[in-house]
Amino acid sequence: MKMDSEPPTLHSRRTLSLRFNVPISKTHPFWHSLKDGKFVTTRCGDCGTVSCPPQSDCPKCMGGNTEWVDLGTDAELVTYTYVQVTPTSFVESDPYLVGIGRLSQGLKVLAWVEGTTLEKLSPGMKLRLEARESPDGSSYYVFVPVA
Ligand SMILES: [Zn+2]
Repeated sequence: MKMDSEPPTLHSRRTLSLRFNVPISKTHPFWHSLKDGKFVTTRCGDCGTVSCPPQSDCPKCMGGNTEWVDLGTDAELVTYTYVQVTPTSFVESDPYLVGIGRLSQGLKVLAWVEGTTLEKLSPGMKLRLEARESPDGSSYYVFVPVA
């Protein structure tokens, strides 16, 4: 029973969507290179720490003397999972594969895995990072198996 002291409410099951505009000025070279199919990140000019994703300041020594390095696109699959129950932000996506790949420099990268099936994945298999563009024009990257 509704109490008179409760404020009136409206129950709605509409889905709301949010759009974030995240400034990328300090990581612009990453996004620019990705459009050209290159995968770059930052290395600290003081202590040599390589960060992925790129950082404007070194997370280890806090120095701001970072430089851009090319990571290449070759990777080796470390582990993977099949996402059958998609999170809210991917609710309109089909179930998908996500993998962690180790790049040739040893950095580990998380990305969706395309062009294969769960049954064909195995740790140690060779992958390549490839750039993609979403319908709204934003760039992202995926792993694809090397034939
Ligand atoms: Zn550093």
